[in-house]
Amino acid sequence: MNFGNLGKVETAQTYLDIAFNQAKEYNKENAKTLVGDRFTRFMRRELGGINRVHTTLVRHLQMIVKCFPAIDQLDPFYHALVLCVVDVAQLKQSLGGVNWAAHRVEDLFREYNPKLRGCRDDQAILKHKRAFYGRISSVIKKLNQDFIFLDEARKTMKELPTLKTSIPTIVIAGLPNVGKSTLLRALTGSAPAIASYPFTTKQLMLGYRTYHDKKWQIIDTPGLLDRPINKRNKVEHQAAIALQHLAKIVLYVVDPTEQCGYPLKEQKNLMKEISKMLNVPIMVIMNKADIATAEQIAVASEGLSNIALISADKEQGINEVLESLEKEIAK
Ligand code: GDP
Repeated sequence: MNFGNLGKVETAQTYLDIAFNQAKEYNKENAKTLVGDRFTRFMRRELGGINRVHTTLVRHLQMIVKCFPAIDQLDPFYHALVLCVVDVAQLKQSLGGVNWAAHRVEDLFREYNPKLRGCRDDQAILKHKRAFYGRISSVIKKLNQDFIFLDEARKTMKELPTLKTSIPTIVIAGLPNVGKSTLLRALTGSAPAIASYPFTTKQLMLGYRTYHDKKWQIIDTPGLLDRPINKRNKVEHQAAIALQHLAKIVLYVVDPTEQCGYPLKEQKNLMKEISKMLNVPIMVIMNKADIATAEQIAVASEGLSNIALISADKEQGINEVLESLEKEIAK
């Protein structure tokens, strides 16, 4: 999903300026080609002008409504993320307002076009034109707060990470320094791409792996799945929960040597929390096998199942992890 093509939403005054400039353009373009006597040419010019203003405004308003995705039809992961960062009720209300305004401009054009056509002198035409411009201006100006809100929402949504929701996603979790990013590099064979994620100061690390012709997305989530729930605020928590819609499986990395700086008890507690929170299968990655003692590994493995013993740094045990992942993803 990519919200990158959400177009900028301008201010009410900018839309009005654009529309009225279009009327001036119309006059310039057609000044010499309009036929008929002086009054007929004047009438046609003014009719053309109000038509340009109305079509320009309606086009811009419709474009705003069209360019925002239907929130309720978004993929569940993006739906959950958008709920974290945008006031969706307000978004719907603002888009509804813009849609209403497009209809209102159409209605006003239908009302004033025949009024202008029925005029018998210049002054009457100008009077109706001014009234038409005044009324559509007040319709558009009423929307200014909505335009401002929509542009903010657009900017926020553009910041959401561009993740693939159509291929299996493997999420790496674990406390800091256990070896998550080393594992990501070992699994993907390349340096990860970086993407922003709402409510984390740190960036999401993103990699892809093709294994037996199947492509997987693998993400490491610093700042998100690397600390206990009570250290997150409500919205950070929601942003983390959104991952349940994306993750097919979680690789939970444990450092049995505790050189990461976190005791095993803390590492296991976080694993339990993540397991409860995301409700997807978890494979335990017992990392740093190159330096861990047999006793450290035995102690760390107590009470755990579905364990892969690896050294991400030395790239030992990576093939076994890939094979297990293939089986798990095929389930
Ligand atoms: P993260 O914070 O969980 O992403 O951890 P990193 O991948 O940045 O690794 C933290 C530290 O552990 C780094 O100094 C790594 O070189 C080291 N490390 C990671 N995997 C291994 C491993 O398999 N063996 C050893 N000895 N060190 C490792």
